[in-house]
Amino acid sequence: MSKNSMWMQRDLSALWHPCTQMKDHERLPVIPIRTAKGVWLEDFDGNRYIDAVSSWWVNLFGHCNPRINEAIKTQLDTLEHVILAGFSHEPVIELSERLIRLAPPGLTKCFYADNGSSAIEVALKMSFHYWKNVGQPKKRSFVNLANSYHGETLGALALGDVPLYKETYEPLLIDVITAPTPDCYYRDEGESWEAYSLRQFVKMEALLEARHTEIAAVIVEPLVQCAGGMRMYHPVYLTKLREICSRLNVHLIADEIAVGFGRTGTLFACEQAGITPDFMCLSKGLTGGYLPLSVTLTTTQVYDAFYDNYESLKAFLHSHSYTGNPLGCSAALATLDIFASDHVIEKNQKLAAVMAESTQHLAAHPHVAEVRQQGMILAIEMVKDKQTRTPFPWQERRGLRVFQHALSREVLMRPLGNVIYFMPPYVIDEAQLRHLALVAEEGIHLATRD
Ligand SMILES: *Cc1c(COP(=O)(O)O)cnc(C)c1O
Repeated sequence: MSKNSMWMQRDLSALWHPCTQMKDHERLPVIPIRTAKGVWLEDFDGNRYIDAVSSWWVNLFGHCNPRINEAIKTQLDTLEHVILAGFSHEPVIELSERLIRLAPPGLTKCFYADNGSSAIEVALKMSFHYWKNVGQPKKRSFVNLANSYHGETLGALALGDVPLYKETYEPLLIDVITAPTPDCYYRDEGESWEAYSLRQFVKMEALLEARHTEIAAVIVEPLVQCAGGMRMYHPVYLTKLREICSRLNVHLIADEIAVGFGRTGTLFACEQAGITPDFMCLSKGLTGGYLPLSVTLTTTQVYDAFYDNYESLKAFLHSHSYTGNPLGCSAALATLDIFASDHVIEKNQKLAAVMAESTQHLAAHPHVAEVRQQGMILAIEMVKDKQTRTPFPWQERRGLRVFQHALSREVLMRPLGNVIYFMPPYVIDEAQLRHLALVAEEGIHLATRD
C-alpha cells in the first residue's frame, strides 16, 4: 500500500472534513500533505501540487516562509499565549498600531477574535449594540447583498446569501434584508462595469431611503464576492454606498476577510473606492496563512458609545479564548514586514498582468461565458450555453472534473461550482502562472466535451 493510501485510511476512520460530503471520498482520494515549501505542497508519495487557491485564500507568501517561520519561533520561546482581558503583550499592541496606520483613515480601534466568522459576529453585535447604546434601539436590522458570503457561524451565515450553505439552517437564522447585487456578470452586453454597478446601486439607495430607521448596518464584501463564485463589481458602488450610509446614519461593514492584504491589487479593497467603513473585518491573509487570527477594526465614534461607567452596562462583553494570540500576532507582524520591505503590491501588478494575458484567449472558448479579474484574483466562468449564459446543472459537477484533471498536472485548483479561479500565493512565478492557465484550459476542454 502506498504511504498516501495508508494515511488516507487512517484519516477516513477518524476525521470528518470541512465542507465535504464524506461519501465522495469513496472515489476521490483525501490527499495527505507531508510538507510544503513556497507554492508547492507535497504528499506522502512525493507528488507535488502548486497551491493555486492559497490553501483556501489564506496563504500570501508561500508555505514555510523563512521569515514568518523565524518570527513565530522567536515568539514561541518568549510568550505563547496570555489572556487579553486586563492583560496585553507586545505583538498585539504593535500589530494594532500598524493595522491602524495601514487601514483606511478613521479606523482607530482593533478588536480581536480567532477566525473570520467570529470577526463578522463581532461587527454585527457591535453595530446592534452601538445603536442601543446611543438610544436608537429600533435600528436592529441588517442589509446584505444577494450572493454574499460572510462565514458559517449562525450570525455570519444569516448575513450570507449562498443557498447551498444557508438554506438548511434558515429556521435558525436572523432575518436580513437582501439588496440586489452589483455583480457585473449580469450587466448588459456593451454595458460597462461602472454603469451596471451604478444601476444596481439605485435599488440599494431606494431600500435604505425607505427603511433606514430600522437598519443598523449594511454588510458587503468589497469588490469581489469570493465564495459566491468570484463575482466582481466596480468600486463606484462602494463610494456611493459610503455616502448614503453616512447620510442616513447606517453603519457600513466591510468584510475584507478574503479580499484584504493585496488580493484585489491594493492592500485593502476599500482603498479603490476611497472609503472608510465603520467596521472592517480581516482574517485569512492576516497571518500570511499561518495561524487563526482575526480582527474587527472600528472608529472612535463606535468605541466611544461603549465607553462609560461599568454600571451603565454599555461595555462590549464579548470574548474568545484565543483572542489576540501572540503567535498569530507575530506571524501577522512578519507578514506586514514583507509587505513593507518587498514592494509586494507593485510586484503583484506584473503577476496580475501575466494572469490576464495567459487566460485572455479562454474568453473565446464555446463553454466560457467570461474571464474576469480583480488584481490577484482571476476567474473563468464555465457555462453550458455561451449565448444564453445557461449554466451547467450543478448536479453534473463539472468543476470537480477540472479539479481532478488539475491534480494530475501538479495543481491544486478547487473550482467553485462552474467557476474556475486562481488566487495564488504572491510568491508564484510567471512560468507557474502560465502552467495554471494551461491546466485550466485543458480542464475546461475535458469538463465540457460531453
Ligand atoms: C472565509 C470568509 C469568511 C469566514 O472566515 P472563516 O475564518 O472561514 O470563519 C467570511 N467572509 C468572507 C468574505 C470569507 O471569504
